[in-house]
Amino acid sequence: MASQEIQPWWFLVEPLAGESISHFLGRFRRENELTVTMMGKITGLGGTIGRWEKFRFIPAPTEEELTALSEVVQVEVERLWQMFPPKGVGMKHQPIRLCGACYGEEACHKIEWQFKTTQFCSKHRLTLLSECPNCGARFQFPALWVNGWCQRCFVSFREMMEKQKSL
Ligand SMILES: [Zn+2]
Ligand SMILES: [Zn+2]
Repeated sequence: MASQEIQPWWFLVEPLAGESISHFLGRFRRENELTVTMMGKITGLGGTIGRWEKFRFIPAPTEEELTALSEVVQVEVERLWQMFPPKGVGMKHQPIRLCGACYGEEACHKIEWQFKTTQFCSKHRLTLLSECPNCGARFQFPALWVNGWCQRCFVSFREMMEKQKSL
């Protein structure tokens, strides 16, 4: 196809274990210095990129949309689906939640933290945080997680694990 000949090369980003679509898109965009708007143009998905970064999945993502994204980010469609909630699982798009212990092991926002059914981190058996335990600020959308600290008081996500309650 002629369109592929002129397709530029992008810096590719490997998905992390359990990573949410918002966190992945943020990393891909920063690696390639792309705004949300530019990412929408490149993939042909327009405003859908911005919706996904905010965990807004109505209307539901389609195979065609994920195929279009896959062609740009070079991650298989099957793997991309894992960054979204499974069918029938409700999403809590706010507040953004965090397990500081998980984040300390790998800097990543996990999609399962936003499932309505998820009440705690199953790996560490700790409650999830819904806001910064130091200053009370809500966490930003994971697409904006660059430094791994609270955007208001700069306490690191890893340190926040001390405030998570053990089950
Ligand atoms: Zn954890
Ligand atoms: Zn804070």
